[in-house]
Amino acid sequence: MRFPLKLNLDLTHYIVRNAFRGVEKFPLVLMLEPTHLCNLSCSGCGRIREYAATLAEEMSLEECLRSVDECPAPVVTITGGEPLLYTHVHGLIDGVLARKKHIYFCTNGILLKDALEWMRPHPNFTLNVHMDGMETTHNRILEHPNAFAIAIEGIRAAKRAGFRIWTNTTIFKETDLKEIDELFTLLSGMGVDGFLVAPGFGYEAVGEKLFLERREIERKFREVFEMSKRHRILSTPMYLRFLMGEKKLECTPWGNPTRNTQGWKAPCYLITDTHYPSYRDMMEKTDWDRYGVGKDERCAQCMMHCGFEPSVVRELGKNWRDMWEMIVWNLK
Ligand code: SF4
Ligand code: SF4
Repeated sequence: MRFPLKLNLDLTHYIVRNAFRGVEKFPLVLMLEPTHLCNLSCSGCGRIREYAATLAEEMSLEECLRSVDECPAPVVTITGGEPLLYTHVHGLIDGVLARKKHIYFCTNGILLKDALEWMRPHPNFTLNVHMDGMETTHNRILEHPNAFAIAIEGIRAAKRAGFRIWTNTTIFKETDLKEIDELFTLLSGMGVDGFLVAPGFGYEAVGEKLFLERREIERKFREVFEMSKRHRILSTPMYLRFLMGEKKLECTPWGNPTRNTQGWKAPCYLITDTHYPSYRDMMEKTDWDRYGVGKDERCAQCMMHCGFEPSVVRELGKNWRDMWEMIVWNLK
């Protein structure tokens, strides 16, 4: 099975319960950024640029756990910045797991090996390591001469310690997909459990040079779709068909709400119009109809998973063919 059974069951139960209760807008994954502090300065990173003035700030552990309680999403992505630099990272992981939620823990891998001294595997815990290419490419994008070797060493050690590991790869304009195929072959051989792949999107804070435009995304992701027949790529087939230009999806900006040191970021993970003090304020006060492709010019090129993977869930109940494709994909 592509996703862990427990995660599948918990997500299905949550989605069915919301559908049964007639809840129209509900989140799937909370993106929690307890700090934007990072030990790297990657070329394509919007976060360290957008939040440059508040990089050193941290959420308190209480604020983090209150946010986890406020937002009903069954999955919490702990991200940043580099979340291993967060002072209360240990307490945060324990607190989220104690609430029986699932954690995707995103890291650039630089501190991973050291963290294994205190981190313990858990059925609801997945490490998600940022890998943007083979050695030369990865080191160039992460602007660190040994980022690749350090991350690979951390992944090997984490697999030996029994962790579930996924990696997360951004496809930029210049990404050579043969190299990504080589990377996935290497990582599969090390026992990595799955690969998340997303198109690079031009954050307001970064500029456009690195990023793909819609037509380029469609071309590159036709190759990624072929690759998904050989590697355990975790993006859903419907989302991949959307990226290839074969399927239309409307954005679901509330699907992956983001909480960080400044509050609840609205309208989405990528663009910021304001930060609200509470999850409820964000859900009730954001004018969701203003956002999405064709509605806001900042959305024009966006095909990001944080906006469109939740749309796959909204679409699933409408078509048995899509549902069947999803079941087969998940069981493979
Ligand atoms: S590791 Fe992540 S948070 Fe840090 S600079 Fe790179 S992309 Fe940004
Ligand atoms: S289309 Fe992209 S940028 Fe626009 S609201 Fe949706 S996720 Fe955000």
